[in-house]
Amino acid sequence: MVEAAELPYLRRCVGLAAEALRVGDEPFGSVLVGADGTVLAEDHGRVASGDRTRHPEFELARWSAARLSSADRAAATVHTSGAHCPMCAAAHAWVGLGRIVYIASSEHLTTWLGAWGVPAPPVRTLPVHEVAPGVTVEGPAPELVEEVDALHRRFHGG
Ligand code: ZN
Repeated sequence: MVEAAELPYLRRCVGLAAEALRVGDEPFGSVLVGADGTVLAEDHGRVASGDRTRHPEFELARWSAARLSSADRAAATVHTSGAHCPMCAAAHAWVGLGRIVYIASSEHLTTWLGAWGVPAPPVRTLPVHEVAPGVTVEGPAPELVEEVDALHRRFHGG
């Protein structure tokens, strides 16, 4: 379950996704939060660079592997505007990060993109638990799903 205390982090994810949209990138945003509630790092989609692996969740996994102890990684939570894709779920699990809290599910995104006629991505959209069964995943956060929907709609002209 998404705790009320976690909504500010999720709102920040929406803010980061909106920032990505402003600079012409895919509207995804993620925040890495330590066990004590401190925001350790945040990022948004950077695939407009031409490198389509530049998802914020992947960047946060790499950031945490370079800077946090394995205990701190395990105690940290990644908040994100959209549930991790298989690539990011794998990176999250490989570096041993803790919980994932997301706003919109991959199912939401697949449904939206399908409705707007966006071609299917080259990688299957699997739920996180199918890629990384040991990771605790909470979501969706219905309070914010419409805002995330609106950002993707603007990006894809849906
Ligand atoms: Zn991803």
